[in-house]
Amino acid sequence: MEQYIEIKAANPDSLLFYRMGDFYELFFDDAVAASRALGIALTKRGKHLGEDIPMAGVPIHAADDYLQRLIQLGFKVAVCEQVEDPAEAKKRGSKSVVKRDVVRLVTPGTLTEDSLLEPRRSNFLLAVARARTASVGPGDGYGLAWVDISTGEFRVAETDGARLSADIARIDPREIVVSDVLYSDPALAEFWRGFKAVSPTPRDLFDGASAERRLAAYFGVGTLDGFGAFTRLELSAAAAVATYVERTQIATRAPLSPPVREPAGAAMLIDAATRANLELVRTLGGERHGSLLAAVDRTVTAAGARLLAARIASPLTDPAAIAARLDAVEALVEAPALRAEIRARLQNAPDMARALTRIAMDRGGPRDLAAIGQGLVAAASLADLVAGTAAGELAAAAEGLALPDAALAAHLAAALAEDLPLLKRDGGFVRPGYRDGLDETRALRDESRRVIASLQTRYAEETGIRTLKVKHNNVLGYFVEVAQQHGETFLKAPLNETFIHRQTMAGAMRFSTTELGQLEAKIAGAADRALGIELDIFAELERAVLDRSDAIRAAAGAVAVLDVAASNATLAAEETWCRPLVDNSLAFAVKQARHPVVEQAIRGRAPFVANDCDLSGSDGKSHEPRGRIWLITGPNMAGKSTFLRQNALVAVLAQAGAYVPAASAHIGIVDRLFSRVGAADDLARGRSTFMVEMVETAAILNQSGPRALVILDEIGRGTATFDGLSIAWAAVEHLHETNRCRALFATHFHELTVLSRRLDRLSNATMRVKEWRGDVIFLHEVTEGAADRSYGIQVAKLAGLPSSVVERARQVLAELEATDRSAPTRRMVDDLPLFAVAPRPVAAPAPDPVLDLLDGMDPDDMTPREAHEALYALKARR
Ligand code: ADP
Repeated sequence: MEQYIEIKAANPDSLLFYRMGDFYELFFDDAVAASRALGIALTKRGKHLGEDIPMAGVPIHAADDYLQRLIQLGFKVAVCEQVEDPAEAKKRGSKSVVKRDVVRLVTPGTLTEDSLLEPRRSNFLLAVARARTASVGPGDGYGLAWVDISTGEFRVAETDGARLSADIARIDPREIVVSDVLYSDPALAEFWRGFKAVSPTPRDLFDGASAERRLAAYFGVGTLDGFGAFTRLELSAAAAVATYVERTQIATRAPLSPPVREPAGAAMLIDAATRANLELVRTLGGERHGSLLAAVDRTVTAAGARLLAARIASPLTDPAAIAARLDAVEALVEAPALRAEIRARLQNAPDMARALTRIAMDRGGPRDLAAIGQGLVAAASLADLVAGTAAGELAAAAEGLALPDAALAAHLAAALAEDLPLLKRDGGFVRPGYRDGLDETRALRDESRRVIASLQTRYAEETGIRTLKVKHNNVLGYFVEVAQQHGETFLKAPLNETFIHRQTMAGAMRFSTTELGQLEAKIAGAADRALGIELDIFAELERAVLDRSDAIRAAAGAVAVLDVAASNATLAAEETWCRPLVDNSLAFAVKQARHPVVEQAIRGRAPFVANDCDLSGSDGKSHEPRGRIWLITGPNMAGKSTFLRQNALVAVLAQAGAYVPAASAHIGIVDRLFSRVGAADDLARGRSTFMVEMVETAAILNQSGPRALVILDEIGRGTATFDGLSIAWAAVEHLHETNRCRALFATHFHELTVLSRRLDRLSNATMRVKEWRGDVIFLHEVTEGAADRSYGIQVAKLAGLPSSVVERARQVLAELEATDRSAPTRRMVDDLPLFAVAPRPVAAPAPDPVLDLLDGMDPDDMTPREAHEALYALKARR
């Protein structure tokens, strides 16, 4: 307990998995928390300060499962192992306790095991460093450094307060490390609460003065000059992330690649709300299925899937880099046979990057070695296919694939057996014939087993007892078992000279013999020796692999690039997508575009109607750059949201370097994408729908520059009609006059369409619908002009509102349209006391019925009687 309490005190934030024999035990509060989280039994063991000590345990062989569940639930786990042989402890004295130490802290951002990771998803650990300024503001500088230790990927960037949230959303880290100062900054408290796993750490991790030295030490280099130039903030974050990795991995060094710097502005900025709305890599419900990524993913390998996800999440802003990706896709679109062959060979390419990391961290098993061997063979065969190609990024990929050495692959193939155990300690993974000494030892072991088997026959003959059996268990080792009645004779001379009585069971007796004992020792000795030889071979193979780790990593990266290019090409060919033209203009001209997710979802049930969109603005050579705005009206369910989103997705796909679901597309680089679609309450953070909507709209109006693409859907819906209309009205004007960006604006307020008369770059578009016998039919076609009606009642009918309600609504609407639009008449209210319908929207500024009446009067032209009547009429309007 003393040892436990000491170790626990050093790891207060983690559940302590305390190794005892074949179990990890948890005590005190840890035991209570784990038993609750995992549904395992809570027991007691011993007493501490007079109280029972709560205890819970998980068996070693199932520990990964439990670890995964605890990590998922947001716990951290400190794994405490026995770090000496129990025999050593005994030598020190009978009371001496086996030495134990925490060998690893398991946190969500520092996982390496396949059983704890999602194969097709990166697992980033992000450190956020802040420049030391007095107060927090949008101008504050932040350093970001993120690593996926399962693959070694390491990146750094600098950002500012205004873009911090969008950058974090892009990286999508599993865990964020910040200094305790930054964590407890009241201005950021709510910000941090928005993320799942934020780990405050001692501030020395972020110490700028020692950052360069710590980083150089991590990589075992004298200076960082060879890695390129970094800012102070980047260094501080990078050193923090490396030190955090060091402190969690304790006994082993994670093989990180040197940090790669991402220049500011290299990626399209997409804030968290926009990402969520557009469902880029996961749906609003958090699923991969139904997202853009799921709809476009045709990758074959896990590494390819991770790279594609990264590209979709982080579209580029450099037309040349985008063209390099598109060239690769085009080359494979035009060569279907080559593409098919590449994809067939990719099937044989295992996840080399993650296997390599496990090997480097001494957590690898025989299957990881085999994965490297098989991956190298696959890389070589892929290299043959693309050798000499000059198509964009395929050229670099071809070089990477050609790097690894064939000798290593051959070596691994020769050394490893066909069927491999998961763990090296199980042995049996070295191929027979690979090493003489091993084969002999194994033969000895197997021969002894055969001798034992033959002993049963001999003993049966010698004793004349046919039913005699030689058996094995962990307590007795090998023994002879006979039925009770025969056993009695074994206890007497002469048999008792050979057979030594060990155990009497119900109906049976067990005996050992010297011969069995000797053979058993021989088997155990041979098995131990065989395993020892196998483990030596394992270590040799590990060294051989690690010697070539740079080349292996390059090949793994190249396999992923090839996979993504082939995936995009396959998709383009299957779905007839087109290569977009991406340049530095302010064009946004898309012809016959479709929404990839909706199109696939309705396939087989309905055709998807393709639509054009042109928001192209002038490039700003002669005057300020400015884009067009389309104002889209149309009933609910007509396809407005789908149209809005599909255009945003076309921009994302194009700049991610993929083909797009359209007949043609010309996109001038979008540096920032904003989308406000639909309305969702953020109850967890105590904000109403309307508040969320306004916060997001504010961000758009404050931050969109001329290169932004803005998608706004139904702004102002969450408040009273006139308020909403006024806000929408002002927002359109602001977008047009101040932001001057390319924008799509869908609205219910038909009144807004008059703005096109005044705003020269605003066009009205509407969704075509047909009316047929009182029902509405959606054509999903975008045309010029404004919607004439809302068709709300028809849509309500489609939704299955009771027919009595639909009928009544028709009556009310007819009344409203016949009389004054802004207020229901008293007769209607009297008819239906519970009547409570929001007034229909009217043109702004709101007409006043009293003013209307007054407008219609000419006092000079009235008789006294008419004047008197007019007064009554006015009074009735009150
Ligand atoms: P709105 O935003 O106008 O209420 P949505 O965009 O949500 O309408 O579209 C409603 C439904 O209509 C979609 O779920 C989809 O099934 C269908 N739809 C939308 N656009 C199209 C289209 N272009 N072609 C075919 N079906 C479409």
